Amino acid sequence: MKILRFTFQNYRNLEEDSIFPCEGTNLIYGKNAQGKTNLLEAMWLFTGGHSFRGAKDGELVRFGEASCTLGLEFFSEEREQTAKMTIRGGKREAEINGILKRSAAALVGKFCAVIFSPEHLALVKGGPALRRSFLDGALCQSRPAYAKQFVLYQRTLQQRNTLLKDIPRHRELLGTLEIWDEKLAKYGAELIRQREEYLSFISEPVKEVYRGISQGKEELEIFYQCSLRRKREGPMQDGDFYEALEASRNTDIALGYTASGPHRDDMELKVDGISARSFGSQGQQRSIVLAMKLAEAQVLQQITGEAPVIFLDDVMSELDAGRQDYLLNHVKGRQVFLTCCDPNSIRDFQQGALFHVESGKVSASQHVAEGMPQNQML
Ligand code: ATP
Ligand code: MG
Repeated sequence: MKILRFTFQNYRNLEEDSIFPCEGTNLIYGKNAQGKTNLLEAMWLFTGGHSFRGAKDGELVRFGEASCTLGLEFFSEEREQTAKMTIRGGKREAEINGILKRSAAALVGKFCAVIFSPEHLALVKGGPALRRSFLDGALCQSRPAYAKQFVLYQRTLQQRNTLLKDIPRHRELLGTLEIWDEKLAKYGAELIRQREEYLSFISEPVKEVYRGISQGKEELEIFYQCSLRRKREGPMQDGDFYEALEASRNTDIALGYTASGPHRDDMELKVDGISARSFGSQGQQRSIVLAMKLAEAQVLQQITGEAPVIFLDDVMSELDAGRQDYLLNHVKGRQVFLTCCDPNSIRDFQQGALFHVESGKVSASQHVAEGMPQNQML
């Protein structure tokens, strides 16, 4: 997976232009608040995901403009492909290889990427929703069918919750709960099976990358924490889920919502056997998230047969020399976009393209980092 050309018009503060990234490392540098993250965010939208900064689509359009248009030419499945996206009135419209799609969700699985941004640091210490969304996001890209199953589960969950709220006033509705429980069990068990299977794929690469980042000093382990009371070991069966729902019916009716299921599950992260959520240091948080993202890229490549593009927003500044070296080595051979304020602060940046961003103007830069022989630049 490689971006060949990226075109942007009316995207946040970016001045209308096109960039032609190189196949390897693309270093995007400039002072604070110039548009570096905006550039990564705009390219990331082609994964079909939402802004990794949690922005609503309407906020992505340049102030005072009605719409924005983005274009991506990329190499995937051994051919050049194009994608176009327009955001207007808070809604997205997408075109893939010239064909207009009903929804931008059609992009999921076409252009694959992994993003690390400072926002993701909360993955370790923040609430379980962030960890679930890591799993869901990773699964949607590697198995686009997961996105549909996820929507079916959410929809059924909402309907069951509405019913749970109505039952105390209309006891006659109690009989219909069973139908929803069966549906929820079917969709929910599938989500849990997929998430657990994904974790079993990713846990070894995460361990390995974390060992590399921490220079062999620490061990990271991840476990899926299922909120349902399970009687049996092994993959979650529809029947197990149904039994758990049946057992918690009275509690759920009293609460007015479904107290357990994939929407309440979590992931536990342990460094040397100790909970990283409760005790992890700042450096450990950064290293854990980085390990998870790099492992996500590795697994995505195994599943889809293609290396995803890697976006690293502001990742280098707090990494010591050893960790920077490990990171740059690890992503070799992939297309990488890296943002930073000062390109001289990146050790060992020998090959790649440089882009300078100033007040939203992106220019392919002639800047040569200290000690970097000019003839090694692409
Ligand atoms: P840092 O190094 O601090 O991370 P950055 O170069 O990554 O900075 P960005 O977050 O990419 O900065 O850009 C921020 C700038 O974009 C801000 O000045 C902000 O006002 C501007 N901006 C954000 N959204 C819009 C929008 N919809 N229209 C116009 N400008 C916007
Ligand atoms: Mg930024």
